[in-house]
Amino acid sequence: MIQPIDFRSDTITRPTKTMLEAMFSAEVGDDVFNEDPTVQKLEKKAAAIFGKEAGLFCPSGTMTNQIAIKLHTQPADEVICDKLSHIYHYEGGGIAFNSAASVRLLDGINGVFTKDQFIASINPDDIHHPISRLLVLENTCNKGGGTVWPDEMMKDVCDAALEAGIKRHLDGARVFNALTYTATKPEQLGKNFDTISICLSKGLGAPVGSVLIGSANDMKKAKRIRKLLGGAMRQSGYLAAAGIYALDNHIERLNHDHQNAQLLAQALKETSWACDIIEPQTNILIFSLKDRSKGKDFLTILKNHGILAVSFGPYTFRLVTHLDISDEQIAQACKILKNIVI
Ligand SMILES: *Cc1c(COP(=O)(O)O)cnc(C)c1O
Repeated sequence: MIQPIDFRSDTITRPTKTMLEAMFSAEVGDDVFNEDPTVQKLEKKAAAIFGKEAGLFCPSGTMTNQIAIKLHTQPADEVICDKLSHIYHYEGGGIAFNSAASVRLLDGINGVFTKDQFIASINPDDIHHPISRLLVLENTCNKGGGTVWPDEMMKDVCDAALEAGIKRHLDGARVFNALTYTATKPEQLGKNFDTISICLSKGLGAPVGSVLIGSANDMKKAKRIRKLLGGAMRQSGYLAAAGIYALDNHIERLNHDHQNAQLLAQALKETSWACDIIEPQTNILIFSLKDRSKGKDFLTILKNHGILAVSFGPYTFRLVTHLDISDEQIAQACKILKNIVI
């Protein structure tokens, strides 16, 4: 049996040999005592890329997002985000559980909304309404099909938030995919936000970890929240070393994943059964089945043909390209998709 080609997520990658070597040789200490030089190096490095003062290394992107929400809000405040947001759909209801905050969902297009939509969602200063406290953007937007916020739209929305006294957080789990697509300088993007969450374990190929970045003062408060959530770690420099390696070596190659997603999209377009293919800008490809009744069995059909995907609805599916997919596998997968009969 040949190995299936695994497009379930860009999180399934294994560390490369050289990444593992960087991990093995990391200098470590107890990070709860502030004694892990490799964690400190990663935090400074991630922050500096975006022109921020400080960073905080965490076990997951869910934790960096949840810490940011807790940091910026008080109970009963409102968080404004798109209806497709990861913080809303995929963090277990953490906004309510961790921060006791209320949520306003915006009706964007693939996760991207306009300044006018945002401004219309800000509550007036009236005791009936929750206080609009935090804006969260997601770039790229996972459920939107890896869509990228255009620079101008992002700046307009974030400037409007600043003017309204609303804090701005970016769920940048795949922010380097977004920056690759627009060729924007990270410091320029950084200016739009108070805090940014970056995942090292997605397209960048590290086994574990995310970094929250922002002002030194915010990161000091964030560190307290990380501790109460149980996210303070000890010799985490072994993991941070993988993150440093990923930032140094795995950003420039992201464009290759994006090209591979386009090849898969092209193959899907040539089938008789795929529809509503969201044109991939980055490494995520979302599509649906014309015959909705086949949705139930589709993942099994794919698997029997040697392709792994995940479902994103009853007849909607997601393929993600990543570091562990070779050019041969892409060619093979395109051939398989075109040959599937449904
Ligand atoms: C993966 C992801 C996260 C964080 O997920 P973890 O699995 O907790 O690291 C956050 N936001 C988006 C958009 C994601 O895709």
